[in-house]
Amino acid sequence: MTETSTLPLRNPRSGQIEGELAVTPAAEVAAAAAALRAAQPQWERQGIERRCERLAALAEALAARRDAMIEMLLADTGRWHESVIEVDGTLAAIRRWAAQAPACLAEPAPRQDAIPFIQAQQTWVPYPVVGVISPWNFPLMLTLIDAVPALAAGCTVLAKPSEVTSRFVPLLREALAAAGLGEVFALVTGAGDTGQAVIEACDHVCFTGSVATGRKVAEACARRFIPASLELGGKDPALVLSDADVAQAARALAWGSFVNGGQSCMSIERVYVEAPVAEAFIAALVKEAAALDLAWPDPKQGRIGPIIAASQVELVRRQLAEALAGGARALTGGELVEHGGTWCPPTVLVGVDDDMAVMREESFATVLPVKVVADENEAVACANASEFGLSAAVFSGDPERAQRVARQLHAGAVSINDASLTAMVQTAEKQSFGHSGMGGSRMGSSSIRRFVRARALLVNTGVASPWWFPAAE
Ligand code: NAD
Repeated sequence: MTETSTLPLRNPRSGQIEGELAVTPAAEVAAAAAALRAAQPQWERQGIERRCERLAALAEALAARRDAMIEMLLADTGRWHESVIEVDGTLAAIRRWAAQAPACLAEPAPRQDAIPFIQAQQTWVPYPVVGVISPWNFPLMLTLIDAVPALAAGCTVLAKPSEVTSRFVPLLREALAAAGLGEVFALVTGAGDTGQAVIEACDHVCFTGSVATGRKVAEACARRFIPASLELGGKDPALVLSDADVAQAARALAWGSFVNGGQSCMSIERVYVEAPVAEAFIAALVKEAAALDLAWPDPKQGRIGPIIAASQVELVRRQLAEALAGGARALTGGELVEHGGTWCPPTVLVGVDDDMAVMREESFATVLPVKVVADENEAVACANASEFGLSAAVFSGDPERAQRVARQLHAGAVSINDASLTAMVQTAEKQSFGHSGMGGSRMGSSSIRRFVRARALLVNTGVASPWWFPAAE
């Protein structure tokens, strides 16, 4: 493995290189994992109530650093409003787990088996070291979303955030130490090589990122026979049916598509609108989109931050150029803006066709193509013609119709008369369909079960089993 000792840290607003990220050498990743493995039995023995007290302390330690953390995330991502939501949402999630984890992993009472003299006791055994590899679009939240329930379950955690957004790491380390979690949660920094070193050293991997990297992670985990929980990309569709409130749909979709500069896995990335309401809906959507200003030069003014990762810029440029050259029209936006960093004004595209990259590939940008369809069946068929299956949205004034359509969609979560609700609602179970992921639900109270193995204690309560060999004379 080739190792560089540092990577450049780029300011996404100005495009300037402003610092260096120290890359954790592979030997140090292995040493960190060994230390966690040594600390894990004691952590497990403490019991879930005590562990949850430590998690509640982490929430308090982060709350005490809230403003500094928002500043770090602003430096990492260039966006302000979402950094506030990210910190506050993460605090709420930690507090929720601290309160509910004990009930989620309570051992059931011993159960009488169908065989009358056998009792079965279900127990849970945590994976000693859980690896977390996270992306750049919500750096803090996506580093902690799996780590926190894993810690509650009695695992230790070795996390590697994205090399694009690692400025927040020292402050998170400080909060972990203040909460007494420094020995059971280690953070390492670097790019793909460091991620591979994490996979080699842990017992279960929670990966959030692209499909292409997810495939490499799944292959590496398969070689080691360790589970991989994969949360990958999406191309979420929204269906606006003829009986929808188009003004409400336009507002919801402007948020669902453009929040965080479209850099969310569950962003709405394509809309299928039934012909009778197409004109009114598109006009309302363009009005909403055009009203969203770039958050430049003041990050607190305007709602659209920069394209965070430099590597995304060419992808967005290529998709837009291909669509416009192929006959699509931008009713608002349509051109990237340079302020040192690169920004994408909210863009509504019409005249798109199904073969365009902007309709098939993840854009991860404030680009929303809208296709007019003849009816509900065409809308469903178009929505489902995708390798992805993360989430979707349906808008209809008829609750039964909305449910009927939602149940036909190839997606793990469907928002009805709203968009991207999985960003805000973490209590309902959902799995990723297709290439959008693999493994159990990350959401909902049962998600903590991903971090334990089920062990059955099968007790013979005192008779000779009839299947034994005859007793020796
Ligand atoms: P990415 O796949 O490029 O990188 C993700 C992480 O993997 C980074 O920490 C990176 O350093 C690491 N990595 C890279 N190569 C690796 C390798 N060979 N082995 C191990 N680790 C490696 O993704 P990204 O560009 O940071 O994030 C954007 C993607 O994340 C989008 O596709 C988005 O849809 C997806 N995402 C999914 C969810 C979800 O919940 N489904 C949430 C957020 C983002």
